[in-house]
Amino acid sequence: MLTLIQGANVYAPTYLGTQDVLIGGGKIIAIDENIILDSSVLVKRIDGKNKLVTPGFVDSLVHITGGGGEAGFASRTPEMNLTDATLSGTTTVVGALGTDSSSRTLTNLVAKAKGLKEQGLNVFCHTGSYHLPAKTLTHSITDDIMYIEEFIGVGEVAISDHRSSQPTVQQLAELAAEAKVAGMLSGKKGTVSIHVGPVDSHLSILHQVAQQSDIKLKQFYPTHMNRNKALLDAGIHFCDQGGTIDFTTSTTDYDLAHGEYAAAHALAYCLEQGVAPNQLTMSSDGHASLPIFDKDFNLLGLEVGKEASLLTSFQQAVKEYNVPIEHALMSITSNPADILGVDKGRLKATSDADVVLLDKETLTPEYVWANGTLMVQNTHAVIKGVFE
Ligand code: ZN
Repeated sequence: MLTLIQGANVYAPTYLGTQDVLIGGGKIIAIDENIILDSSVLVKRIDGKNKLVTPGFVDSLVHITGGGGEAGFASRTPEMNLTDATLSGTTTVVGALGTDSSSRTLTNLVAKAKGLKEQGLNVFCHTGSYHLPAKTLTHSITDDIMYIEEFIGVGEVAISDHRSSQPTVQQLAELAAEAKVAGMLSGKKGTVSIHVGPVDSHLSILHQVAQQSDIKLKQFYPTHMNRNKALLDAGIHFCDQGGTIDFTTSTTDYDLAHGEYAAAHALAYCLEQGVAPNQLTMSSDGHASLPIFDKDFNLLGLEVGKEASLLTSFQQAVKEYNVPIEHALMSITSNPADILGVDKGRLKATSDADVVLLDKETLTPEYVWANGTLMVQNTHAVIKGVFE
């Protein structure tokens, strides 16, 4: 059966005006001002008045198998559930390991990705983890990216962090080179996701890689860039040099009280500073542990990152920081998709029907489709994970 959304304000994420959107066979069939169907066609009609239609959100960093463990085994965070993403309008997630690549494994990561995909979500993954030399599934970054369909890049590799493996310029250059070539050979991007910690060296090692090798800054995708003002300004410099940066939407009152910029605030700030809208993204860091440290890096407590924070940060960017809807949407749809090289995050005829219908005022997702399958209806999950 076809679905026809009628008379909605469509953001592709570019604003297309008031349009009808026709969905069928897992794809967007047409976006047009007035789609007329023969009366014999079986179609579910949805009134788009006072609604926005947007691409399904692309969350470029989620610890889908759980993360954490910084305070011992009991502090390992749980796995994500399907509706953690879909109820908030997210239809694509990129899974990665984190600090712990010993008890957390790439086999488990890919298995979890396949499970979520069976339930309808779009899932991609990074090979490797915080540490270099990178752990891999096939004993080769090249083979991981070339032959395992879920792997699109490497990461998140930690820099400027006491939990990193203290990587060298040479190590990072070699890693990025291998990921890039593997990407070329398999039609992928081979992006290297970079976890940036709180140490004052910021992104300097990435600039050194670009100066001392043929690797471009674009090959790296640094996240947690809203950690503090100094790092944010280092991120603006990184963008000036042609890079792209990501802001983490999961946060804690502790972090915000200790200098972190809310992701929405960071987005607005960078746009004000003249950074191009297509160089900025937000991701949830969902199911990461959010450690709370004292000044000597002693752990005081842990919270868990939430996938839903991507939505609330989008809403906050538009409503509280007056970021244009298009720019806020780009940061969670077409930008991360382009940086990671996945064909997601845009609405156009023939694209996968990853679609969100939002209330115009509250920006609450009322309907969510992933590849044309209705995941959320009237804000309730139609499809739930097996154990939800
Ligand atoms: Zn991280």
